[in-house]
Amino acid sequence: MARKRAELARAGLADCQFCAHHCGVNRLAGETGLCHAGVLANFFLAQPELTDELELIPTFAIALSGCDLRCDFCITGAESWNPHVGSTFEAARLAAQANAALACGAKTVMLLGGEPTVHLHHALELVARLPDEVKLVWKTNAHGSAQARELLDGMFDVWLADFKFGNDACAQRLAKVPDYLAIVQENLCWAHLHGELIVRHLLMPGHGECCWRPVAAWLAENLPGVKVNLRSGFWPAWKASRHLELRGTVAEGERQRAWQVAGHYGLNLIP
Ligand code: SF4
Repeated sequence: MARKRAELARAGLADCQFCAHHCGVNRLAGETGLCHAGVLANFFLAQPELTDELELIPTFAIALSGCDLRCDFCITGAESWNPHVGSTFEAARLAAQANAALACGAKTVMLLGGEPTVHLHHALELVARLPDEVKLVWKTNAHGSAQARELLDGMFDVWLADFKFGNDACAQRLAKVPDYLAIVQENLCWAHLHGELIVRHLLMPGHGECCWRPVAAWLAENLPGVKVNLRSGFWPAWKASRHLELRGTVAEGERQRAWQVAGHYGLNLIP
């Protein structure tokens, strides 16, 4: 089934609607949209990782270059923004590496970016080459389209999805993305219904009230009991210094308040 989906995804490149930007460009003909990705994909990391959610590690992580968002605080910066950096994504070779890692004890295989959605056809080609019983993790910014969801349905076991901003103004200012809330919330609700969902929120300095609190409130009301990983290790990477409040790390008091907010809403926090 994954092979068929990969073919469908590749055909979709003629009118790219993979993410909620809906560029409608013909990537097969060399046109590019907001992510600047073409037909080929590159990756900038393929290795065992131990720093993700405890229940998922050790994971064999494959990070595809390029993204449809433009978060100024992106921890992987150039690799995430530029789809042309790194090495050529060859599904057969990466599947072999993943299988070797699984044989050594990796519990999962994780696709991430950048944002893997912009390379959906390659991601599905990789899935087609992995054994059915492998636990697959789709690490995403949750900004995909309905078409992407349809192509991904049943392909990954776990959606590890970011919920970065608690309001559209912060999303527009820090990541240059419009209509953020509605799009992400739609994707999270879908993922919750179609598999296992883990929601990640990176606590940002100065954004406890405008971003974390509304994210926590929405999750409590709409996805009660969903697993939430509240991450407080913000680092002022990439272009974060463009924003005064993002020039440092999260203060201890802010971190404690964020945990109190999680407790207030009864969130199911996981390490
Ligand atoms: S993946 Fe998204 S940003 Fe990239 S061309 Fe397609 S619709 Fe546009």
